[in-house]
Amino acid sequence: MKTPVYLDYQATTPVDPAVLEAMLPYFREKFGNAASRNHSYGWVAEKAVEIAREQVAAVVGANAKEIVFTSGATESDNIALKGAVEMYTSRGDHIVTVQTEHKAVLDTCKYLERSGRAQVTYLAPRKDGLVDLDALREAITDKTVLVAIMAANNEIGVIQPLAEIGALCREKGVLFFTDAAQAYGKIPLDVEAMNIDIMAISAHKIYGPKGVGALYVRRRRPRVRLAPLIHGGGHERGMRSGTLPVPLIVGLGKAAELCAAELEREAARETALRDKLWAGLQKELDYLHLNGHPTQRLPGNLNVSFEFVEGEGLMMAMKELAVSSGSACTSASLEPSYVLKALGVGDDLAHTSIRYGIGRYTTEEEIDFAIAKTVEAVQKLREMSPLYEMAKEGIDLNSIEWTVH
Ligand SMILES: *Cc1c(COP(=O)(O)O)cnc(C)c1O
Repeated sequence: MKTPVYLDYQATTPVDPAVLEAMLPYFREKFGNAASRNHSYGWVAEKAVEIAREQVAAVVGANAKEIVFTSGATESDNIALKGAVEMYTSRGDHIVTVQTEHKAVLDTCKYLERSGRAQVTYLAPRKDGLVDLDALREAITDKTVLVAIMAANNEIGVIQPLAEIGALCREKGVLFFTDAAQAYGKIPLDVEAMNIDIMAISAHKIYGPKGVGALYVRRRRPRVRLAPLIHGGGHERGMRSGTLPVPLIVGLGKAAELCAAELEREAARETALRDKLWAGLQKELDYLHLNGHPTQRLPGNLNVSFEFVEGEGLMMAMKELAVSSGSACTSASLEPSYVLKALGVGDDLAHTSIRYGIGRYTTEEEIDFAIAKTVEAVQKLREMSPLYEMAKEGIDLNSIEWTVH
């Protein structure tokens, strides 16, 4: 077993060897420009791109023509939001989104607000991280152009009720955009059944290369049009100009195909590992808090807060595990995770949260190791905690009047 054990699959994933194999010829002999119409180098590249387009579309029940290749989900999020706002000014200028969205969505919304192009409603999620459908219904006005709600959250893994949100958007006549970077290829998604109009996808979250992604843009019932951010050449139906990175696109296509082929089996395998991890932690430790809905979540995500430990100390004590923390101690700010805050998790518990991300290459042995290392670290830190001692003795910490002399 290699350490540190990689348990950060929501941050990124390694490229699957079969994906790399598929890409290599397009760096070497098949190097043509997919837009070259006059010779076989171009045709070969174009053919490869069209196969990838079909592979990406098939995973979510879309048509290949509805897939636009981009540099990743951040760019896809930008095109979706800015492109819709610019295209549909006659309909209105209002966006509804949620406080727990990825920064690629939130920062783009902030930009649109600041520049006076849009008004944005940021819905508070419920305590379990799910969107309150009644609050969403109330937030949609006759000026609303688009609802932006992610499929699965990158920190806490919760899966939003996409079919219900899609049905509501359709009923209200507003576009439904979902950032599916975490959900695509991991859980069943269907753009028709869920009434999804626009969807962001990233290759490096599904064992493909970094720097490539896609945007699904519905072509029929309704036909969605998005203003481009990048002009020049008119590639990708005018929505995203620029010479296509053929090897990366081939990699994304292959990665999508592999995920789809193994989706159910892999979801079951990761769910079992995740449940084993959670049961193992609960068996040895008390005062644990699961962040996010207990079952309505990605198979490979567990987000736990450890009461009575200090966040930075916990990360330091778990150096053999490559996990993420809800405490932003590595960055300049000491602000804990805005996602956990939006769920109503207090600062202390947000600082001691750990995200375990399980993926394709995670083994049972690694899960056992993660349980042992976490238990060891938490017990060691709690031995130094007078508050933990008091809680164990049954003293209600909230009843104590702390006085400073
Ligand atoms: C990773 C991620 C992104 C950003 O994707 P890139 O391809 O790295 O730009 C956006 N949204 C979510 C939910 C993500 O998990």
